[in-house]
Amino acid sequence: MTRDAVVIGAGIVGAACAAELAAQGMRVDVLDAAGIGGGATAAGMGHIVVMNDSPAELALSAYSRELWLALAPSLRAADAFARCGTLWVAADDEEFDAARTLQSAFAGGGVRAQLLDAAALRECEPSLATPMAGGLLVQDDAIVYAPRAAQWLLEHSLGHQNITVRRECEATALTKGNVRLADGELVSADLIVVANGLAAQRLLPGLPIVPKKGHLLIADRYPGYLHHQVLELGYIKSAHQTQGASVAFNAQPRPTGQVLLGSSRQFDTLDPVVEWSVLARMVQRAARYLPALPSMNAIRAWTGFRAASPDGLPVIGPAGDEWPGVWVAAGHEGLGVTTSLATAKLLAAQVFGTRAAIDAAPYRVDRFAVEYGHGA
Ligand SMILES: Cc1cc2nc3c(=O)[nH]c(=O)nc-3n(C[C@H](O)[C@H](O)[C@H](O)COP(=O)(O)OP(=O)(O)OC[C@H]3O[C@@H](n4cnc5c(N)ncnc54)[C@H](O)[C@@H]3O)c2cc1C
Repeated sequence: MTRDAVVIGAGIVGAACAAELAAQGMRVDVLDAAGIGGGATAAGMGHIVVMNDSPAELALSAYSRELWLALAPSLRAADAFARCGTLWVAADDEEFDAARTLQSAFAGGGVRAQLLDAAALRECEPSLATPMAGGLLVQDDAIVYAPRAAQWLLEHSLGHQNITVRRECEATALTKGNVRLADGELVSADLIVVANGLAAQRLLPGLPIVPKKGHLLIADRYPGYLHHQVLELGYIKSAHQTQGASVAFNAQPRPTGQVLLGSSRQFDTLDPVVEWSVLARMVQRAARYLPALPSMNAIRAWTGFRAASPDGLPVIGPAGDEWPGVWVAAGHEGLGVTTSLATAKLLAAQVFGTRAAIDAAPYRVDRFAVEYGHGA
């Protein structure tokens, strides 16, 4: 056996975990059914954003954002990292109060954010509709092109010499100390990390993860039109919804000048088809905030699936007593690009028995009463 660990999945989470284990001296094989940075990583917006749905989410996203900011100088132009900041827009006084509350929660977590009145908001982002009540500017949030960042982590990070990536290599089952591949080969390692996103459930049936479908739309190049990732404060409510279809305004300036528009959330479907009715709702919603948007040229629309756990937090840590040697890093919902680097640190700290920068307990699988079925 020439490897210490096998990581299943070369999305941003698997890539980050492999890079961290390799940096700490492990020889790591990464298996992916397709290639690097597919799955949700290819479908998402790549917004690196501190969120505060719970103290655990704030801690994980703030820690991970710091890791991204530290990594940024090493990334290439093609990784499209930009510290554009997040602008949370308050349409009315009630939402401006929510902005104030968010600011003080961020302050409690050491995250700086600046409250803007209506005039300051307009100066900050002149394309926004008027009147708006104000906003909250989180200067240190950023964006990245996640599929390329995954490739950087696997092929250029500190320990990359210790990483071997096997593409078109589908894991079909786990047995003690082994991963069974689609062609029957058994790949053995003392440490197996299940990091294949939504499909983690196929290897560990019972893992409580459900799909949340999302739509995105990218427009042509309109350089200078937007300067920050701009979201409505209502986005937080929409992200919490647990049934039906919801849309919320979320727009990103790509470094190319293109405008990337999100986003929707739908349950109980695995159909990747672009639904025009959902897209139309997204554009209508966005037009309330960016009136010029409906007259822009749209180039492409697509969908992706977030892997969501019941409490919205990822699962990071040992799979449980039933699965000795098996670890999980999955269920990152709509925040997995942001939280990938901290996920890798928390996983590695548990593997090596070292102290992590934040408490790992809120993300461990044993917070749920999981009853595993048999693997595929
Ligand atoms: C519409 C949308 C917008 C989003 N926007 C953001 C955002 O702005 N910011 C943010 O932080 N997050 C965002 N996310 C969430 C983020 O994209 C995901 O949380 C993250 O990409 C998950 O990464 P992952 O590596 O866990 O999974 P994935 O990216 O899904 O990767 C899993 C990998 O495993 C492979 N695989 C699957 N099954 C097997 C198998 N059996 N054997 C081997 N390989 C296998 C797949 O081929 C794939 O490459 C968004 C998601 C969506 C859908």
